[in-house]
Amino acid sequence: MLTEEEIQRYMRHILLEEVGGTGQEKLRAARVLIIGAGGLGSPLALYLAAAGVGRIGLVDHDTVELSNLQRQIAHSLERVGQAKVDSAASAMRAINPLVRVDAHPVRVTAANVAGLVGQYDIVCDGTDNFTARFLIADAAWRAGRTLVSAAVLRFEGQLSTFKPGGARPCYRCLTPAAPPDGLVPSCAEAGVLGPVTGVMGTLQAIEVCKEILGIGESLAGRLLVWDALAARFRTIGLPADPDCAFCGMHPDGPRIVTAAALDADRG
Ligand SMILES: [Zn+2]
Repeated sequence: MLTEEEIQRYMRHILLEEVGGTGQEKLRAARVLIIGAGGLGSPLALYLAAAGVGRIGLVDHDTVELSNLQRQIAHSLERVGQAKVDSAASAMRAINPLVRVDAHPVRVTAANVAGLVGQYDIVCDGTDNFTARFLIADAAWRAGRTLVSAAVLRFEGQLSTFKPGGARPCYRCLTPAAPPDGLVPSCAEAGVLGPVTGVMGTLQAIEVCKEILGIGESLAGRLLVWDALAARFRTIGLPADPDCAFCGMHPDGPRIVTAAALDADRG
């Protein structure tokens, strides 16, 4: 049952036939892990806290820098120098003290990723490098956790959901392995328009709410691509790759590429 305070706070959700009091209770019971408290993680964390997602984990090893403030709206000038997870957690608690925020001020590694992912129902990737993306995607798939993954660069964004089971694709069906270093530039190298991260992080928050509530059409098996300059969204079908080395079945069984081996490959 929701309290009087919760009913008041979440009234605009409760009014929605697809959410209602039952949906709000589902949001309250949900546990979501956000990896990366930056441009994507900021709106994602603020909206999930505002929406009443009961337990939200934040993972980031960085501290707030002046150059973050152009897009990372969970942080503020007075918190430059603070751990990003602490800065974002204070912003979330200022909006909604009813939600529990777990701050994990660590870098995601092959050694800790399974332990982090295992504590939550849904995992969100808002990181900015392929090493972290593969670690997170592989760990979420193995643990049977739904992954909502977004990426931005310059004026473009991409978003998809990866749900283990059925004939649905995994992250490696889309991107089998990390491209050679330097081939795909990062936002730090190529730049990004601030609000582009806001839109993609917010879309990520919406997909997380949909997965928790079990409403609408999941993005599992589809890739949403947004070109901000053209003001155009496209949704592309993303079939599972039967030859995928991670989730595909071979005569010898699945050829599993482990996160630890990937780390070792990359030195
Ligand atoms: Zn696959």
